[in-house]
Amino acid sequence: MQISPGIHSLGQTIGGHVHAYLLEEDDGLTLIDTLFDTDGHRVLEAINSLGRAPQDLKRIVLSHGHRSHIGGLAALKEASGAEVYSHEWEEDIIAGDRKAQPVSLLPMRPVTAYFKVYHLQVGLALGVGQHKACPVDLPLKDGDRVGPVEVLHTPGHSPGHLAFWWPEKKALFAGDAIATWPIFDGGWPAFNLNEEQQRATLRRMAELDAEVLAVGHGEPLVEDAAARVRSLVEPNRG
Ligand SMILES: [Zn+2]
Ligand SMILES: [Zn+2]
Repeated sequence: MQISPGIHSLGQTIGGHVHAYLLEEDDGLTLIDTLFDTDGHRVLEAINSLGRAPQDLKRIVLSHGHRSHIGGLAALKEASGAEVYSHEWEEDIIAGDRKAQPVSLLPMRPVTAYFKVYHLQVGLALGVGQHKACPVDLPLKDGDRVGPVEVLHTPGHSPGHLAFWWPEKKALFAGDAIATWPIFDGGWPAFNLNEEQQRATLRRMAELDAEVLAVGHGEPLVEDAAARVRSLVEPNRG
């Protein structure tokens, strides 16, 4: 689904309503995250529906090394030959040499919303559910540009978490720093490894005045995006 000219949202129910984003330019495609499926078929079908070939996918950029977002990576790398990018802290997780940091098993509040996420929380807490490993080709750091987007190092959810900003479209790809499913929130609370870093990340995102807010879990927002992001950093929140 095209949510803004050149920005296509791809989602699936499992993996916590995980979403990936295909960015289209004349000279090629950039993919942000790879969905949960290990065969990459949803992404390959989306590329096909644009009248493009898998080889038109030039770059796969990863927000971080959690299972839901790197499921299709190995298959998509093989199908496309695209260069794979992540923050260096996440590289050995993505390459299969280290497990992601475990999280708490304590249920998140409100429990009525977050029970839908609990199986993923348990999986990460216990270190089960491995992805198909794939090496990262190039590291990214804050201020880099990859394809059409600028790289924002946005730690908190994980130390090497990245978000991406497409300035011409005022589109923020927030990764797991912000979720719209099962509720709109500054990420899934139990998954935020460092709360102080996470608050700084949200403050930085609030300053961008995004018109498009594309998140890792849940549907993207294309209305009132900037106000919704600012609501996450209001002093009386929570
Ligand atoms: Zn995550
Ligand atoms: Zn996630």
